[in-house]
Amino acid sequence: MHQHDASMEVLTQAIVRYAVDRVRMEPPLDAPRTPAELKAMAGRTVTERGLGGLEALRVFGEVLAPACISADHPRFLSFVPTAPTEASILFDLVVGASNIYAGSWMEGGGAVFAENEALRYLADLAGMPAAAGGVFVSGGTAGNLSALIAARWRWRQRAGGRFDRTRGLIISSKGAHSSIAQACRAMDTDEVQVTSDSEGRLHVENLREAVATLAPEDRERVFAVVATCGTTNAGVIDDLDAAADVAAELGVWFHVDGAYGGAGLAAPSVRAHYHGIERADSFIVDPHKWLFAPFDCCALLYADPSVARAAHTQHAEYLDVLHADEGHEEDWNPSDFAHHLSRRARGLPFWFSLATYGTGAYRDAVEQSLTVTREAARLIRESDHLELIMEPELSVVLFRRRGWTPAQYQQWSEEMLAAGTAFVVPTAWAGETVLRICVVNPRTTVDDVRLILDSLT
Ligand SMILES: *Cc1c(COP(=O)(O)O)cnc(C)c1O
Repeated sequence: MHQHDASMEVLTQAIVRYAVDRVRMEPPLDAPRTPAELKAMAGRTVTERGLGGLEALRVFGEVLAPACISADHPRFLSFVPTAPTEASILFDLVVGASNIYAGSWMEGGGAVFAENEALRYLADLAGMPAAAGGVFVSGGTAGNLSALIAARWRWRQRAGGRFDRTRGLIISSKGAHSSIAQACRAMDTDEVQVTSDSEGRLHVENLREAVATLAPEDRERVFAVVATCGTTNAGVIDDLDAAADVAAELGVWFHVDGAYGGAGLAAPSVRAHYHGIERADSFIVDPHKWLFAPFDCCALLYADPSVARAAHTQHAEYLDVLHADEGHEEDWNPSDFAHHLSRRARGLPFWFSLATYGTGAYRDAVEQSLTVTREAARLIRESDHLELIMEPELSVVLFRRRGWTPAQYQQWSEEMLAAGTAFVVPTAWAGETVLRICVVNPRTTVDDVRLILDSLT
């Protein structure tokens, strides 16, 4: 298993060829299959003697890969698509081959240095302090949880033991991502979801009213205010400055979830909408969403990483050699900043792509998504049968097809996928079934959008 012989060389060439071809082609959209179908088509794959690499690769290429929808297809506009650059994907192969343990500086210092360069770029976009830092985790869900664990740690620390057995409470909004509620469940924490305004934004008056109506004993339990820059369903940005004010008045942590929309910080045309983000105690953004990195990659940043380190560092006899002792005070151990220990250097594909193309290319690519989105909104506005639900703030467009029932939306969506044309699923807005497209792929053109809109007549 661990020798490189002639047959392994053949397999090597086949795998590298497959990967390179996959990066270069426009992938077929593909569609899901049932487990029974896959069982029948793939046959038994895990056997005593093994299939051999070429046969396993054939099963993957012919049976399994086509049962996965290509999230990087230019007309995959559901959820939040993905559009990794060629450099980032190819470098992911290098990261895999190098198998670096990137949990500690001692073992992965070179990789961690590069990851930190990429984190610094994001911290600078957000205007976070020079001391800011953090770690790349698997996704926004893991990032939000880890940030809130640090927030709770600080609240309890400051209370000097008084709240060590008290259930905490966070203030978020109705537009917050489901992962915030999930973090609260994991942490046994209560959540007050402030009513959003008509476009789904956390608004200063609603926030202040929610705080004012808290009972005194609940107000003591608040340890964080969570705002979103780029809600997943509507792509709108909360009033971050007001949320920062309220967090400061309460003396609690301010967390900003930019898993999807944080990328917009790179775009001058919308940068002003993020006013107040520079006051965040923690901030997340997923490069696997709108910053052109492959799965799975979330940047988690803290204004004061020492709090996160105190909250997250794991101690064990065999680990303590890694921690700051004589001469190692500056060691940056990524494991210490989130709820994890072993980790791959998952920030490296993003770093490599930034290093390759430069930050100007990122600015332009994010702006281009915004331009295509604005054009899409214009096409919808000018159409007789479609209706815009709100002007897009970032790269999500919500709209309705006049007169359609939920079943009609569903049927249209399924037909578009079955035909290999597009993947656009309905969503709900204020209780109504509507359509939503999310543009993050620089290969998505106005013509792609027009094709989809024209099919809605
Ligand atoms: C996608 C998203 C998340 C969750 O991120 P994952 O990487 O899917 O875990 C959290 N918050 C927001 C606003 C998102 O759009």
